[in-house]
Amino acid sequence: MGETSERNPENPLEGDVDETKCAQCGKVLDEEGKTACVASMSGSVMGDETTEAYYFCSDCGVYTKTIYHDSFSGEGSFSVSDPIPKADGDAKVALIKRCSMPWNKSCRCDAHKEYFEGWLD
Ligand SMILES: [Zn+2]
Ligand SMILES: [Zn+2]
Repeated sequence: MGETSERNPENPLEGDVDETKCAQCGKVLDEEGKTACVASMSGSVMGDETTEAYYFCSDCGVYTKTIYHDSFSGEGSFSVSDPIPKADGDAKVALIKRCSMPWNKSCRCDAHKEYFEGWLD
């Protein structure tokens, strides 16, 4: 786990490239080829697909959650949470890991139901 601040000039971070930054310190957590995503969960809420992903910053010891909301009208939106205390993030990650296919928005297991608190279609 070496630190590097080098960027690939042939791959400028723009457009569709995901760049997830720590909500607390601003460090880029997710770069080409190495993801800091600990867990993510997708669900279909009122016809729209929502994917929430948890990233952990080892510098701060907090989680950052990204929320991607894909509307059936085709307009997606992306937002980033405030820093989440490690204990809270750990609990969500543990919940997500109870599902064997958290990326499956059609899954209706107990973990999905609990995570989305009954908002699933
Ligand atoms: Zn940080
Ligand atoms: Zn599930």
